[in-house]
Amino acid sequence: MDSYLYKGKRNKLVMHLFIKGIRNQLVLDAIEKVPRHLFIDDIFRQRAYEDVALPIAAGQTISQPYTVAFQTQLLDIKKFDKVLEIGTGSGYQTCILLELGAKVFTIERKRELYQRVITLLPKLGYNPSFHYGDGYQGLPTYGPFDKILITAAAPYFPEALKSQLKIGGLLVAPIGDDKIQEMKVQIKKSDTDFEEMKFGNFAFVPMLKGKD
Ligand code: SAH
Repeated sequence: MDSYLYKGKRNKLVMHLFIKGIRNQLVLDAIEKVPRHLFIDDIFRQRAYEDVALPIAAGQTISQPYTVAFQTQLLDIKKFDKVLEIGTGSGYQTCILLELGAKVFTIERKRELYQRVITLLPKLGYNPSFHYGDGYQGLPTYGPFDKILITAAAPYFPEALKSQLKIGGLLVAPIGDDKIQEMKVQIKKSDTDFEEMKFGNFAFVPMLKGKD
């Protein structure tokens, strides 16, 4: 359940993100709206609106709000954009994308997390296209996509994902196989040309191959 207490905490979080440099009002509005505490287990719920990553099931984490806002801002979502998200996790980032009017396809490799989101999100009124599988493969039969977001640390930009991007589309991912990764954006200029931009350091759980 949502409450005035949680709404107040969300409002403070939004002010904090604004001060930290998130200036896209649509992104801030989405964060103001999505009840992050409902994506988090009871023991950590009180901390839902702190700007920190928190543990979820299967040894994974829900990304830090600043990271979610930062990646979403880089994606520059337009209404009806077809977006592929790799790493559904808690489903929180998925809901932020849906609030911005995107049509979202999301992939998770951990069955336990996939099972949770397919019940939780529709209950909250969010209906992306859920997929249990390996994000390295993308979703060839559903592409091409306007935007692709990887929410786990990828050692490199997977070729399958690059090929499932529309010309003019962009791919946002933290790249690196160490504890710290560099946030990168690749813009698809043609089938063979990609322009790359860098946006500083972040820390994500690793993007792993296969599913379990
Ligand atoms: N967007 C999520 C972030 C979760 S952490 C949220 O806001 O909660 C990253 C997630 O990526 C984890 O759930 C992890 O299991 C998943 N993941 C890692 N490698 C993957 C892969 N190859 N394909 C799909 N999901 C993957």
